[in-house]
Amino acid sequence: MTETFRNYVGGRWLECMSKKTFPNVNPANTDEVVGLFQASGPEDTQAACEAAAQAQPAWAALPAPRRGEYLFKAAEILESRLDELGADMTREEGKTLPEAKGEVKRAINIFRYFGGEGARQFSYQIPSERENVFCYTLRKPLGIVALITPWNFPSAIPAWKMAPALVAGNAVVIKPASLAPLSAYRLVEALHEAGIPAGALNYITGSGGAVGNTLVEYPGVRAVSFTGSCEVGNALYDKVTRRKIRVQLEMGGKNPTIVLKDTDLDYAADVLVNGAFFSTGQKCTACSRAIIERAIYEPLVEKLIAKTRALKVGNPLEPGIGMGPAVDAGQLDTDLKYIEIAKKEGARLLCGGNRLTGGIYDKGYFVEPTLFTDVTPEMRIAQEEVFGPVLALMQAKDFDDAMRLANCVRFGLSASIVTRDVTRIHQFVNRIEAGLITVNLPTAGVEYQLPFGGTKESSFGMREQGPLALDFYTESRTVYLKYTQA
Ligand code: NAP
Repeated sequence: MTETFRNYVGGRWLECMSKKTFPNVNPANTDEVVGLFQASGPEDTQAACEAAAQAQPAWAALPAPRRGEYLFKAAEILESRLDELGADMTREEGKTLPEAKGEVKRAINIFRYFGGEGARQFSYQIPSERENVFCYTLRKPLGIVALITPWNFPSAIPAWKMAPALVAGNAVVIKPASLAPLSAYRLVEALHEAGIPAGALNYITGSGGAVGNTLVEYPGVRAVSFTGSCEVGNALYDKVTRRKIRVQLEMGGKNPTIVLKDTDLDYAADVLVNGAFFSTGQKCTACSRAIIERAIYEPLVEKLIAKTRALKVGNPLEPGIGMGPAVDAGQLDTDLKYIEIAKKEGARLLCGGNRLTGGIYDKGYFVEPTLFTDVTPEMRIAQEEVFGPVLALMQAKDFDDAMRLANCVRFGLSASIVTRDVTRIHQFVNRIEAGLITVNLPTAGVEYQLPFGGTKESSFGMREQGPLALDFYTESRTVYLKYTQA
């Protein structure tokens, strides 16, 4: 029988008021319903916000290292269930099992890292220009924070928002993506088992329109951290900034990899295949444009075709599978639509380009990894986020031309260069318009202990993860203290 998962409000597992649920379907096998989740409405969302409001003062009053201990305990619980949680994620989202387990491990690391922040929370002590005056800053939590997360990193993104928000003393209401709510549920369940005080953390599922809108408009919410599409993020920005509350948006990308002529071609082809096709190209940091110096274009493209064709597409729970399905029918349609647009605009299909059919493929949303050549910068395939396994190949005359092509998009999330030329590496790092820069590595594959975020239209607001994450979830207070009355 299919399991029904409840909301977590005020420390209790609750059905939503309408008692309606929605299914979480396995994209590799649509016969399998992974679970039923609460189709919550505005009243449920308000109840979650009220529970957060009640709990927040006591949670904030708890010494920060003790708040951190709940994250440490939850990390232990998650680690003991790593295999099961990885499989849950593969079944709800479709990424391969090693990728899913890697992501759960990352969520565990995030909990440990921010558990440790409970005992740090550094601020400043700065000399005064007056005698006998001691000056310092301290961090205060904001109050209730609303976290809205996407389906593509269903464990890591909820973890990297919840952990700093909680350790800073905020009460959290999280709304995960409806396509993959189970992975975030598992994090909440672990924190519940770790004994987190009732109301400090609240989890509520339901549609973006019904839950998301009510959540960001609740008067007590002091900050909104959102990761998802530009369309939804930009609309949220308008609503939230009217209320002058804090907002952080992480959105789309059109991430380039530049390959220079001095490079090892096999190495470069591996970097491109990993960046473009792992997780079915559904990473915000995935590479969707390869910008290759003319001198090596033909031989590199040949290797790329061979490696792309060798990638095994199939059931992501099975060993040896390189790529799973698109997350749902809508994303599959988007992938196929962009493939048609690219052909119409004059790009030439080198391999892939089709929905996979027959056998297990008929039960899921499988598409071939796809390469296009003769892509020019004004084409939609070179400018718009597809969010699927479609790589646009572009020729650059030289390094300067490659930089021009790399920067001529509205996005600026991640970017990579593959070369041994140390001068070019530094010039690339200085000139590329991206928040995450990699060298001789894929555009995707970030670590939990470093700041994360993009530039241009990819992002707005302060950085997530690493030592900068707490800045978003705390407000700084400045103290001038004269310790004599003379
Ligand atoms: P999405 O459709 O924008 O959804 C993101 C979240 O917003 C979901 O929880 C969604 O709920 C919710 N939502 C939808 N409408 C809303 C509304 N009116 N008010 C409040 N919340 C609302 O994005 P997605 O399809 O899940 O994720 C893919 C996108 O995320 C891609 O563009 C990708 O580049 C981006 N992304 C960016 C980063 C980054 O760090 N830059 C990381 C990962 C993904 P429902 O699920 O219920 O619709």
